[in-house]
Amino acid sequence: MSQVITVNGVECHPIVEKCEGCDRTMEQDGVKYCKSYPLPERKWAQKVCNFATHMKLEVDKGGKVNINPLKASKRAARGR
Ligand code: SF4
Repeated sequence: MSQVITVNGVECHPIVEKCEGCDRTMEQDGVKYCKSYPLPERKWAQKVCNFATHMKLEVDKGGKVNINPLKASKRAARGR
């Protein structure tokens, strides 16, 4: 089922579910890929993809790590 494409000699794998909402996706032939990383699944093998535009890792005062969705308004404020 996995649809791998080759871009500039690099094998690109489709994005994973957690990538939904990220601005770095692109669509080709109805399948979404990541513009920044060829293996999105591996990016999410850690807690959160460090390239993601829609999620980020935050450490609270107690040292607990949380994954927080980034608000669209925040992104707009950054003037993208
Ligand atoms: S940057 Fe990360 S979260 Fe965004 S599409 Fe690529 S792999 Fe997925």
